[in-house]
Amino acid sequence: MLSVQPTESPVTGQSSIFNDLNVMGHEQVVFCSDNATGLKSIIAIHDTTLGPALGGTRMWNYASEQDALRDVLRLSRGMTYKAAISGINLGGGKAVIIADPYQDKTEALWRRYGKFIKSLNGKYYTAEDVGTSTKDMEFVAMETKFVTGVPEYMGGSGDPSPVTAYGTYLGIKACAKEVWGQDKLSGKKIMVQGVGHVGEYLVEHLVKEDAVVLISDINEDRLKYMSDAYKVKVVGKDSVYDQDVDIYAPCALGATLNSETIDRLKCSIVAGAANNQLQDETVHGEMIKDKGILYAPDFLINAGGVINVYMELEGYNRERAYGTADKIYDRTLEIIARSKDEGITTHEAALKVAEKRIRDIAKIKSKL
Ligand code: NAD
Repeated sequence: MLSVQPTESPVTGQSSIFNDLNVMGHEQVVFCSDNATGLKSIIAIHDTTLGPALGGTRMWNYASEQDALRDVLRLSRGMTYKAAISGINLGGGKAVIIADPYQDKTEALWRRYGKFIKSLNGKYYTAEDVGTSTKDMEFVAMETKFVTGVPEYMGGSGDPSPVTAYGTYLGIKACAKEVWGQDKLSGKKIMVQGVGHVGEYLVEHLVKEDAVVLISDINEDRLKYMSDAYKVKVVGKDSVYDQDVDIYAPCALGATLNSETIDRLKCSIVAGAANNQLQDETVHGEMIKDKGILYAPDFLINAGGVINVYMELEGYNRERAYGTADKIYDRTLEIIARSKDEGITTHEAALKVAEKRIRDIAKIKSKL
């Protein structure tokens, strides 16, 4: 049994978890525990107005169960808005497994997890996220059909990260167009934090365009591999925020934009793939705007991956996936324009568009 105290909310610190679920709008949160395999997982289904909840499974060695719950609640809500703003018919969900991705993976654990997903009868579809891979999804797929991002040789769309990186790259270019009048990135100094699946593909795009790329990661092997393969400069993980760069691209974990880090940033643009970059959407969205830094809403520009796995549900077509991800460029420019017109943060502008689509579609749902 997970020992989350029902009287302490991990998100607001207030009276109860149910209060958080109400405030954040979640429909269902499922705790999955299995002694035999050591599985400890939380599946959060945020909103299924637009379609079944879809979102990846994150495997992470969380410092506490409260941290894991906080993460899955925020991530699943982000998925709702990501699908909504991308014009795809999916709801928002996400799952976390509390475990060490380098040590704790077994076939049995993944298959047990697959059985839990199956029990939700298609209300939630999973895929990869931080700490999980197509190989893991292959085991999940042995137990349930409600899984995407399975390997191509099994009829799936494979790793969604290349499409996520492509969309993020387009979002970065749209921001460059806004700030410098043109979207060329050659010569621009770009700090990429986290060079895992998405980070590496993003670096590939940036290096191809002759950007000056700096990287950081907590995994020394990744740093060595990346600096050898792409000849990029490595920066210590604690000095990421102090770099004199044009663009900071967070591609590791969330909450890297907070009261401590925003103060230190020297860049003109923050645009990256990590989910939930703003520690507090309102406070830190405003703080970054006041500092004159253009922030690309994460759920807008990192939608390539969910677009890709959505296509898998409809019969995968790579061209269609990339074609849909192409729209991220114009959509980013539209959101920036709206934020300027209305004097609101880019995050708020993106939320407004996503929420309106959900409201509009909810109205026609019961009609024949
Ligand atoms: P990944 O696990 O492959 O890579 C994450 C990398 O970040 C790892 O190399 C890890 O060592 C590094 N990292 C962790 N903490 C760090 C820190 N403090 N400083 C520097 N590096 C750190 O994950 P990924 O699939 O590349 O995803 C990266 C981010 O993008 C995540 O926030 C994920 O939720 C988001 N995202 C991924 C996809 C996708 O298609 N994979 C889609 C949308 C959003």
